[in-house]
Amino acid sequence: MKDRSLSRRNFILTGAAIGALPLVGAPMIARGAAAPHVLPPLPYADNALAPVISAQTIGFHYGKHHKTYLDNLNKLVDGTPMAEMTLEQVIKASAGAADKAGLFNNAAQVWNHTFYWNGLRPNGGGAPGKELATRIEKDFGSLEAMRKEIFTAATTQFGSGWAWLVEEGGKMKVVKTGNAENPLTRGMKPLMTIDVWEHAYYLDFQNRRADYVNALLDKLVNWEFVAANLAR
Ligand code: MN
Repeated sequence: MKDRSLSRRNFILTGAAIGALPLVGAPMIARGAAAPHVLPPLPYADNALAPVISAQTIGFHYGKHHKTYLDNLNKLVDGTPMAEMTLEQVIKASAGAADKAGLFNNAAQVWNHTFYWNGLRPNGGGAPGKELATRIEKDFGSLEAMRKEIFTAATTQFGSGWAWLVEEGGKMKVVKTGNAENPLTRGMKPLMTIDVWEHAYYLDFQNRRADYVNALLDKLVNWEFVAANLAR
C-alpha cells in the first residue's frame, strides 16, 4: 500500500513522465483518487470574475488559502491509510471525529473551495436554463424566493462558513454551514455554494458581505453547474 502511494507521488512530482504513461486518461483519475491531492486549475482566468471578485482576491483565496488547505491535507494523510482515499472518502471518514478535526477541516475546505470556484463564471447570474428554472419554481415557488433564501443564509451565517444550494430527498433547499462543514456529511447533494469567510470578500468589499453576496448572485452564479449537479 505504502509503495503504491510512494510511486504515485514520485510519478506526479516528475511531471514530464506523464506523457510517457500508456494509460491515456488514467493519470487524472489516479491523481483525483488518492494523495497527493492536487489543486485543480481555476476554470477561468484570475481576473475573469472582476470587479466582483478581483484578481487580487483570487490570488490570495485560490493561490494561498485554497492551496494551504491542500498542502495541509497532503501532509496530514501522508503515511496513513487515508492517503489511499479519495477526497470525499477522507471527508466522510473524518467528519465528527474529535481526533481528526484538522484532517476534516482541511479536506472539506479543499472540496468546498473547488466546488465554489466551479459554481462561478464570468457573465453568470441572470436566469437559469428552462429545465432548472421549472425545477426552482417547483421547489421554491420562484427564482426570487430561492435567491432571497440564499441571500439570507449567506448574510446570517455568523462568522466563517458557507451558504449552499443543495438537494435533499428529491427537493432543492438552502442550508448554511459553519467553518469547513459540508452538506455531504449530512447526506445532501451540494448544487452550488457561496464562501462567506471574510477572506472571500474583504479585499473587494471590506465588511459589506451583503454587497458581495448580491453581486455574486447577480453576476457570477454558474447555473449550468447547478443543473449538471442536479442531473448527477
Ligand atoms: Mn475561502
